[in-house]
Amino acid sequence: MSDNDGGDQAFRKTDLLGRSAEMTYAGALSFLRRRYGRDLTGADVVVSGIPFDGAVTYRSGARLGPRAIRAASVQLAELKAFPFGFDPFDTLAVIDAGDCFIDPHHPDTVVEAISSHIAAILTANAIPLSFGGDHFVTYPILRAVADAHGPVALLHFDAHSDTWDDDGGKFDHGSMFLRAKNETLIDTDRSVQVGIRTHNDSDHGFKVLSAPWIHRHGIDATLAAVKERVGDGPVYLTFDIDCLDPAFAPGTGTPVVGGLTSAQALEILRGLDGLDIVGADVVEVAPAYDVSEITAIAAATIAHDILCLLAIRKRAR
Ligand code: MN
Ligand code: MN
Repeated sequence: MSDNDGGDQAFRKTDLLGRSAEMTYAGALSFLRRRYGRDLTGADVVVSGIPFDGAVTYRSGARLGPRAIRAASVQLAELKAFPFGFDPFDTLAVIDAGDCFIDPHHPDTVVEAISSHIAAILTANAIPLSFGGDHFVTYPILRAVADAHGPVALLHFDAHSDTWDDDGGKFDHGSMFLRAKNETLIDTDRSVQVGIRTHNDSDHGFKVLSAPWIHRHGIDATLAAVKERVGDGPVYLTFDIDCLDPAFAPGTGTPVVGGLTSAQALEILRGLDGLDIVGADVVEVAPAYDVSEITAIAAATIAHDILCLLAIRKRAR
């Protein structure tokens, strides 16, 4: 076989930077055609899947999210980033480390498996960008992140607060951020929830920018409120795809009407340059309920734009 033709950067790429030609519709699928590998040397960002959905309260299926997001990323791997106007891979060395190995038949091992997986990325001085899985996976991720950085701000996009009653041990994608608060993994005084539209008797100290508030006040007011809350310290960004309205993200387990459009969410994300993002995830993509890849394409674009924010920060250094 010729070594001179393009394609299959997922296993043929020799440099973590740059990109070469692909058939958009073919070739080995990694996220944004980044090279697969577990040698994290030189990586600024390590992408990986966390295929666990044993903590859902309604429809399961988010364990298939990582492969759907990778498949949906192909068009974004072709051109310079819009609207940024640069190629993030001129600056940012990104590896796709495949998926965290999880044994669903021994659920008692899951939290440790995910925490160790993320800890290895942080030990390599890289930023983890993870694809769920249901939202519970963010709890073991935050354990590793807090180990490395201390309590971080949580910038949380979601229809749900995920701070309902927690007993400290259950697998529940609706309570783990109360646990993260109780275990001091996050600093709620600097944390903010964006897009909420479900009732909770308490905000548990988080600032809440509800979906109706965002619809009334708009993007600029949202950005100002987020930046004021989060400040200059380390922040972990978690994006539950059900933050988007079901019209823009039907492929998810617990959809709620009245949410953000994909356009609103991207405008908010694209305004967040300057934040010290030390880790991020996109979760709750459940391809079985998706239509025409609407949800997976939204998730891939959100993850792509998070990489662009990280590239901007690296370019500024
Ligand atoms: Mn959630
Ligand atoms: Mn949610």
